[in-house]
Amino acid sequence: MTFKIIKRNLIYSGYSVVLISRFRGYGKDSVKGFIAPDTLQIFINKSLDLEERVRTLIHELLHDHYPKWDEKLIENKTQEIYRNLNKEEKGFLQFFVSEDELILEKELIS
Ligand SMILES: [Zn+2]
Repeated sequence: MTFKIIKRNLIYSGYSVVLISRFRGYGKDSVKGFIAPDTLQIFINKSLDLEERVRTLIHELLHDHYPKWDEKLIENKTQEIYRNLNKEEKGFLQFFVSEDELILEKELIS
């Protein structure tokens, strides 16, 4: 699993990233994100910094790509991929989790 696969998934799967400040029904701010394949949305906790958001995005995309992997494997792979990102790759992923995407959140609410 490399950045290439992550990128391809992000672009061609049709997923949109939604930054939200509160996960209703979860209650704990320890929840970083989750993926909703039915509606093609990846929810990311807005209170995370940019670096953590990118890690969470990778994490959730790995869940989508490898549904049978457990949390530990997903998290190990996430760290490995993140460590190996070059500047451009990091920038590409940061774009998807930056504040500009907040417009999606507004669409979701209205
Ligand atoms: Zn997970």
